[in-house]
Amino acid sequence: MSTLRLAIVGAAGRMGTSLLQNIADTPDLEVAAAVVRPKDLVLDALGPQQITPTTTLSTDEVDLVIDFSTPSACLEVASICARSKTPLVSGTTGLSPKELQELTKLSENFALLHAANFSVGVNLLARLVEEASRAFGDTADIELFEAHHRHKVDAPSGTALLLGEAAARGRNLRLHDVAAWSRQGHTGPRADDEIGFQVLRGGDIAGEHTVYFCAAGERLELTHRATDRGIFARGALRAARWLVHQKPGAYSMADMLFGE
Ligand code: NAD
Repeated sequence: MSTLRLAIVGAAGRMGTSLLQNIADTPDLEVAAAVVRPKDLVLDALGPQQITPTTTLSTDEVDLVIDFSTPSACLEVASICARSKTPLVSGTTGLSPKELQELTKLSENFALLHAANFSVGVNLLARLVEEASRAFGDTADIELFEAHHRHKVDAPSGTALLLGEAAARGRNLRLHDVAAWSRQGHTGPRADDEIGFQVLRGGDIAGEHTVYFCAAGERLELTHRATDRGIFARGALRAARWLVHQKPGAYSMADMLFGE
């Protein structure tokens, strides 16, 4: 069995740490580079493998890059991958629509799988949400709730946006036309097509999402709870094993899981 040599960008972060731990248990994967910000160089060795970190990404001797960092770092990494045609799995969230467009444009030159959530459960949930939204049509009001740990810097979560887009698609709507990102004061009654978002931040919550379909006389609640961020790391590693065999272009978790 040949080993897949990975560069991990954001290796000193929460997801980077979880990736290094999960890779240590997998004989078919190897960490070729652990890329961190200069401030994290105080850590002289990372993960169970005791990898010496570096501050610059080189794709020499690397089969695939995995990035869990920040939007600006993600785009820098994508440019490097585009130049060297190295596949990239990225889970970084909080990219603006313009940054997402830039990322997709860059991926004409390399295989990219960018996903707001690498858990199988959430990607199945997105399918169920689209189906429920289509079935209820305009007979149900759609609301989303998400909760994450106190360190999370973007809101609503990338996963909440992914679920909101699935709900909007089921009703042939565009999320950005109908999203109610916050409510306060004299808001007036709810618009029929509105998709509302509620956000909680606190403690060490790994990630919870509920999509509500509130109809007259009944309410459907579809919930996913992550209890360990290892599910995202293992999902990203599964994506890496799949992506390395794909042609250049932008792929989604649905492409991998459902062959779309
Ligand atoms: P974190 O803040 O713990 O880690 C991010 C790390 O990236 C930090 O150590 C930071 O110093 C580092 N970093 C920033 N710029 C860098 C650069 N240029 N080079 C190298 N390292 C750099 O955050 P986290 O909880 O690990 O999450 C990281 C990202 O992944 C966030 O956007 C988060 O929302 C997202 N996330 C996605 C999923 C998913 O399944 N897609 C799951 C969890 C988190």
